[in-house]
Amino acid sequence: MNHSLLTELDTILDLLTDYVEAGYRRQRPTAIAAARYDGAAPVALSAGDRAAELRELEQQVRCCTLCPLHQGRTHGVPGIGVLDPLVMVIGEGPGAEEDHKGEPFVGSAGRYLDKWLAAVELSRSSNVYITNIVKCRPPNNRDPLPSESQACAPYLARQIELVRPRAILSVGRVAAQLLLQKEDGIGKLRGRSWKYRDIPLVATYHPSAVLRNDQWRRPVWEDLKRLRELLDSSS
Ligand code: SF4
Repeated sequence: MNHSLLTELDTILDLLTDYVEAGYRRQRPTAIAAARYDGAAPVALSAGDRAAELRELEQQVRCCTLCPLHQGRTHGVPGIGVLDPLVMVIGEGPGAEEDHKGEPFVGSAGRYLDKWLAAVELSRSSNVYITNIVKCRPPNNRDPLPSESQACAPYLARQIELVRPRAILSVGRVAAQLLLQKEDGIGKLRGRSWKYRDIPLVATYHPSAVLRNDQWRRPVWEDLKRLRELLDSSS
């Protein structure tokens, strides 16, 4: 069977799957889905081209229907911050206020996160980019389902390529487990440095969990200091 016939069969199968599972032709961000971070890509893109593609990706997120989470969202929440940041913060998914405003980490947990960042001379307005594993709010703030995280993963992979953070701070169990491909709880994943591809990664608790549990404030501070040391040693 030749290659073009196989490609056509693949397309027909995709269409059939879309109509059986969803009842309509689903969006396929093939350029993003094909993206694989290799530590150097996309070398050919200028900062201007990366900014333009990031805006395009954000538009795709806002009208994405790749997983059922789009059905309950008010706004898709692609991310916010600067290109070439010192740190990309990655949480698990938008909450009610984020869904309402279309921005990540804008509620009480977001204000608390901003305090953490300020304590180590970081800020979403100057040297941080903030996003989530899934870009649409899971109902009742439940964990994203594996199928939802998988559907949304290419957006995050491409964001990391385009934004090019020097380090990653993952907040909460879900983000750490998915980025590190580990099943341990956050209590075991925090407290050391990891790598996501070639990017240094520090995992810590989610700010909303720390707001409810005072005893995690000290470990978070240790994680933030570790992150700052990583940045200082790589500058
Ligand atoms: S969560 Fe991600 S994959 Fe699902 S609809 Fe929203 S943007 Fe698309």
